[in-house]
Amino acid sequence: MQPLLAAALYVCQTLGPHLLALPSHSLAKYVAPNVSGSNWRARIKEVIKGHIESGTPLELLPEFRINTRVSRGWSADDPLLTVNLNALAQEAGIRTFQAGWIAPLRPVIEQALGAVGVQAGWGKDAALVPRADGTGEVPWTLPLARAQDLHFLTEKVRTACLLVIAAVTGMRSSELMELPVDCALPPVAAGPGRLRYRLASRLIKGQPLGGKREEWVTGKEPHDAAILSAALLGEDSGQTHLYGRVTFKSRYKNFRNWVNGPEGQRLGLAPIPEDLVNLRRMRRTLAVELAHRPGGLLAAKIHLKHVSVATTEGYAALPGGAQGKFLAEMAEEEQERNKNLTLGVFRSFQNGIMPTGPGARDLIEFFTHVDGKLDDLTGGAPNTKGGDQEVINLLSRRAATLHLSTANYCWFIDPAKALCLKLAGTPGAKKPMAGMCDSSRCPQATHHPCHRPTWASSAENKKVFISSIGRGQKAEKTRLQADLERDLRVLAEIDAAASPVA
Ligand code: SF4
Repeated sequence: MQPLLAAALYVCQTLGPHLLALPSHSLAKYVAPNVSGSNWRARIKEVIKGHIESGTPLELLPEFRINTRVSRGWSADDPLLTVNLNALAQEAGIRTFQAGWIAPLRPVIEQALGAVGVQAGWGKDAALVPRADGTGEVPWTLPLARAQDLHFLTEKVRTACLLVIAAVTGMRSSELMELPVDCALPPVAAGPGRLRYRLASRLIKGQPLGGKREEWVTGKEPHDAAILSAALLGEDSGQTHLYGRVTFKSRYKNFRNWVNGPEGQRLGLAPIPEDLVNLRRMRRTLAVELAHRPGGLLAAKIHLKHVSVATTEGYAALPGGAQGKFLAEMAEEEQERNKNLTLGVFRSFQNGIMPTGPGARDLIEFFTHVDGKLDDLTGGAPNTKGGDQEVINLLSRRAATLHLSTANYCWFIDPAKALCLKLAGTPGAKKPMAGMCDSSRCPQATHHPCHRPTWASSAENKKVFISSIGRGQKAEKTRLQADLERDLRVLAEIDAAASPVA
């Protein structure tokens, strides 16, 4: 992304103004030629007429081609000797100018020569600009002998503008295509010395047919790029959209080849790696960059015009993304916490404070097994409990299954045994559903002294409720009474198990 954006900005900011400063009539129209030469006389005459009317000189033939003509028998005094006839044909959409067309078109070409003359290409004495790598200066362009070369360079600069706009605003291709020619709205003062730049386009995705008018608040660079790109279209382009239908893949490939080729090297541009680049990836990269910053997730949601922040989270959750990193760190912390909690429960067990609940027997068996292993490790020496790290190593697999609920520990070893998943009808789920937990009945739940306050407050609340229930609500009272008895039973079990065995 860095060399791509650096190259695009260099082309826009350093080459763009020079290209734009060429006399407007220099930006000769280039028409992609086809093979059909039908109606050639009228088409070429029309082109020549256009040159005379607009004052655009005819294209000068390169020196070596003039010499070739002379060697083939052209007279050195022929006024047409220096005229690039193929360029005239190509302007008319015909690939080559046939030799047999010279005689019938000679009068009109000579008339044009008298009116507008020929031009010796563009950029012969190009101004010097600093190289992108900071090592000296070079002419901003090599001489451009043909309208076609000028057209290609103009499109390179317009592609650079497109890349800057896409990378900095994160617009989708549909939104880029909808950019009108005058999309750069006048900057608005946003405090002392600060200007707010906006680009106008339309939101298409998720909108009714025709989309919805929308503005992108952006930086100066894409705003300037939009102005430059529109100016390069020329006043009489007749285009209403800045780019219209964007074929990003080929545009980007041509730009990268140009940057990585001799011209890019001459200008000191760093090569752009061959990795896949498309508008969706650029949008994601921007989302990740925004989401990295404090409060960035919300900023990214607003900027990318997502309907919900969950979408932005999805964008930002690339490997290395802010949310991805956050989740990885959280999982690590959770594992550490689980190990410490399991160690605490195990030490309590060693001190005679037993877990209770439906899963207690299984946990006690496991702890007994671990205790036995520790005995083996310590050689059965009395009063030797084994170091914490040793114990954690033995407990780590069980610790990885621990999930916390407010009223119990959930040892989620076997989804098939999970009561919550059975109740929810999702036996294949990979995680317990704490919201459906009934720890007094699930074989994977255990209760510990730390859960006592939760059960005690639940029992107290139920007592209050039961006392306030009227005589008419018998069923409700019975249900609450049963729940209260369960709470009291759990409390009694916790209390009994928490008294160290003498
Ligand atoms: S019911 Fe509770 S203890 Fe049992 S698996 Fe579900 S969350 Fe865990």
